[in-house]
Amino acid sequence: MSTSRIKLYDTTLRDGSQASDINFTLEEKLALIEAFDRFGFDYIEAGWPRPGSADEELFARASTMTLQHARLAAFSSTKKARSKVAEDPILRALIESGAPVATVFGKTWIHHVTYQLKATPDENLGMIRETIEYLRDNPMRPFEEVVYDAEHFFDGYKDDSEYALATLKAAALAGASVLVLCDTNGGTLYNEVGDIVWWVLEFLKSDPAIRERFGDALPEVGIHCHNDSGLGVASTLEAVRRGCTHVQGTVNGVGERIGNADLVQVIANLALKTDAVLRDVVRVEELTHLSDAVYARAGLRPRKDQPFVGVKGFAHDGGVHVDAVLKGASYQHIDPARVGNKMRITLSTNSGRASIYAVVKSLGFDVEPNDPRLRAMLDEVHALCSEGFDIGLLEDEQYLLALKHLGEIPRRIVVTRCDVTSHFTQLEDKEDHDNSCILKMEVDGVEYKVFEDTESGPVGVNFKAMKEALGRARLPTNFELVNYEVGLPKQREGAGSTIQTYITYEMDDGQLITTSGFHEDIIVSSRESLLKAALLVAARFGK
Ligand SMILES: [Zn+2]
Repeated sequence: MSTSRIKLYDTTLRDGSQASDINFTLEEKLALIEAFDRFGFDYIEAGWPRPGSADEELFARASTMTLQHARLAAFSSTKKARSKVAEDPILRALIESGAPVATVFGKTWIHHVTYQLKATPDENLGMIRETIEYLRDNPMRPFEEVVYDAEHFFDGYKDDSEYALATLKAAALAGASVLVLCDTNGGTLYNEVGDIVWWVLEFLKSDPAIRERFGDALPEVGIHCHNDSGLGVASTLEAVRRGCTHVQGTVNGVGERIGNADLVQVIANLALKTDAVLRDVVRVEELTHLSDAVYARAGLRPRKDQPFVGVKGFAHDGGVHVDAVLKGASYQHIDPARVGNKMRITLSTNSGRASIYAVVKSLGFDVEPNDPRLRAMLDEVHALCSEGFDIGLLEDEQYLLALKHLGEIPRRIVVTRCDVTSHFTQLEDKEDHDNSCILKMEVDGVEYKVFEDTESGPVGVNFKAMKEALGRARLPTNFELVNYEVGLPKQREGAGSTIQTYITYEMDDGQLITTSGFHEDIIVSSRESLLKAALLVAARFGK
């Protein structure tokens, strides 16, 4: 392991946004640049400012931001074969981006040089050299630093190592400060990555021209791995162990095809399990927050099983196991707080008395371990789970169940009738669409009748009617529906399958609550969730 400090280079906004399911808006990208800077990355690769692209505008806005820790990098290819650098529109856009760092990718693999670039091996070396020299020494605006990404480096090296090293030498002598070895198709085994990194470092140390130019202050060697073989993180860690001091990746591993090396896992492993030196401003304890921020901006559901930051990362299931965890036995590979995560207790058919006791204590209930009401709650958990209801890690569902069994539900709210109508007509070019809801709800024995209509769909109109009734009953209504998800059917019975709905609401103070319904009729399933949310809000805030 190198004792030099490891530099962290985030490419979520460029390589990550090449994922088929990610489309960041300009405002989302700017918000993420701020978040990445606050987290402590050394570099943020914001995009590829090609002429006329959306990234041109991004750099125009981003280059006026004041960043505390990171420097912005703009991405580009080398110049085209047989063209003049000064006349290359792509390089001109790169210079006009205002970014202090340019990252240029070039060809390593002779096969690509011949068939893709249709250039000779020497022409390719010239393209790398001229592009980097032009950017370093540009009279309009010289870059502070040029990073060279050696595309398909490992495949190229295995095919023709001499030529692959010649491309790195051209980049180094032209003034690139970092030579990044890219496993562009993610097909290289981690041990091969490590061995090739070692050979590259040996080459840089021993090549006479490089030694004469740089002495001991050699250009840094970086790593950029894709995850097609499931080895993105492992290969990155191995590359660092063998001497790389610059690490590229994306938050949550988002990216083209299977994605890139997940920087969340790379950083957590480097910081907590190796003697690698990271910059002291890196907020490792905010990794979970960082991960959530990227999922939220990308519009992706967070991966529950993502190492370190997933909600299942430190979740414990099964009575004996939970008991051991609570007694301090080491069933967790790290203290979850070190990455901003927390220990959770899962409720399932495997749960025992210890799990129930741990859950209700963590939710703030004052009970003794041998309280007989815990037995009744456990029986209900087992019954729900055997029907297929997932209460596992749903803390708000666990809380409601605890309220029910510990006898503290303060208000009795019952929906006695609900008719939801979804209306749609298409007459020539005119669409007509609305939903209406007739609701009768009893709160502590008093009936409230409501009629509402809206264009926002059957769940939306149901929610609107329930909030109106709650308001009339002087219960709190300071929450809005912000997310609606439908679980996959537990039993594949087509239209008759039982559906679990998960609805998330945001309180006016930003707090989120998630409740769930379970029924073969999706409207009834949604209404169950709405009713539970009303009970929960009433219990917590409307006593
Ligand atoms: Zn890549």
